[in-house]
Amino acid sequence: MAWDFSTDPEFQEKLDWADSFVREEVEPLDLVWPYPNNYKPLTPERRTVVDPLKQRVRDRELWAAHLGPELGGKGYGQLRLALLNEILGRSTWAPVIFGTQAPDTGNAEILAHFGTEDQKEQYLRPLLNGEIFSCYSMTEPQAGADPALFETTAVRDGDEWVINGWKYFSSNARWAEFLIVMVWTDRDAGLYRGMSMFLVPRDTPGVNIVRNVGLMGELPEENSHALIHYENVRVPAENLLGPRGGAFAVAQTRLGGGRVHHAMRTVGVAQRAIDMLCERALSRHTKGSILADKQLVQQYVADSYIQLRQFRLLVLNVAWQIDQYQDYKRVRKDIAAIKVLAPTVLHDIVQRSMQVHGALGLSSDMPLGQMWMHAPVMGMADGPTEVHKVTVAKDVLKGYKPADGLWPTEHVPTRLAAAQAKLAAVTELDIRDGSR
Ligand SMILES: Cc1cc2nc3c(=O)[nH]c(=O)nc-3n(C[C@H](O)[C@H](O)[C@H](O)COP(=O)(O)OP(=O)(O)OC[C@H]3O[C@@H](n4cnc5c(N)ncnc54)[C@H](O)[C@@H]3O)c2cc1C
Repeated sequence: MAWDFSTDPEFQEKLDWADSFVREEVEPLDLVWPYPNNYKPLTPERRTVVDPLKQRVRDRELWAAHLGPELGGKGYGQLRLALLNEILGRSTWAPVIFGTQAPDTGNAEILAHFGTEDQKEQYLRPLLNGEIFSCYSMTEPQAGADPALFETTAVRDGDEWVINGWKYFSSNARWAEFLIVMVWTDRDAGLYRGMSMFLVPRDTPGVNIVRNVGLMGELPEENSHALIHYENVRVPAENLLGPRGGAFAVAQTRLGGGRVHHAMRTVGVAQRAIDMLCERALSRHTKGSILADKQLVQQYVADSYIQLRQFRLLVLNVAWQIDQYQDYKRVRKDIAAIKVLAPTVLHDIVQRSMQVHGALGLSSDMPLGQMWMHAPVMGMADGPTEVHKVTVAKDVLKGYKPADGLWPTEHVPTRLAAAQAKLAAVTELDIRDGSR
């Protein structure tokens, strides 16, 4: 019997350490240098605080836990990573301090999978060492969920490629050292063979950040999602990442991992909202009793607990499947399922927590508003919910076939007739004739 829901004691010790380390040493950074400061290149002053924290994570062998030993991680696999990411999800700085922040984890993963040795040396090493940040530049102003509608192209010119086009919502481009850009290299070859990925240093002439778009709630000077005009951007031929025409497969690898990591961290955010909900319910007194004694508030607690429990089990199961099969494609349906669940679970739980906190919950004196705004982000970044539902449905339907003949397989009269015929051969007992 192979089912086991326990964590091995050695890794549990690491998780316990990470939990108190994040709460005591990292969360203060969230308060003094709030998001998006965690994505900005470090000043010498900040380094004096951040570098020793990173070193403590390394000393505990928890740095870049998503990667194998050849790349500076420990090869813990996705299941252990999921347990760690639940802890890191509580804090905006924690993923940076542990070397597992989006979008860099996904970008690192494709560099590790598809990069040449030179590319790994130039881009992956400093990325994994936490020296630089990166950007993934795929969405365009006129199209996101449907890559067939992308227009940006790269044309070969001697030993170089020349990139032209527009990209939108390229997160953290302004602070990134390099961008991974998805472009057409051969339109006639179609979506699955005609697009390629390129590594583009951000200071390459022609990489024009036209505007940094803000998310709701972001301060204008902190806007972090770039509208970029790539205007005759020349990169050497060796900056092609993965095979020519292979961008779709590269993107799937990147987004598969990225979506799972988002879901893992969402478990941590939602748990934090439940912690706040319960504490408040036990602390606030109204109409003769504490809130926790009111049945409607108890319903909030129970619904939140149950919703998160279901979601967490599915996230852990997906992580387990990836470890088993080492193949994101094989787990595609369930990755899409957790991508669909994440925004709803987060929204519902944070909403209840806000409600129980009253006006305080809606105020900027509490972190709930920011957590709440993260819910629609989870429903959009790395593809909208609707598209992931389509993926789930198509994959589920693959396991079925149309009924033979007029009636469904479960049609009772048809099944009864078959059962009668089968049993009549071996028994003379009174068999239901179907007319009753
Ligand atoms: C916080 C954040 C960070 C992001 N970071 C990046 C980044 O770093 N790099 C990057 O390239 N992109 C990034 N994106 C962009 C993101 O990937 C796109 O927003 C997403 O893929 C959807 O594309 P779109 O916005 O163009 O919406 P559209 O493709 O125009 O879709 C709009 C809506 O149409 C509906 N819809 C779309 N397709 C279907 C369908 N097949 N069936 C039914 N309904 C459908 C859905 O309701 C969908 O929300 C980010 C987005 C957010 C919000």
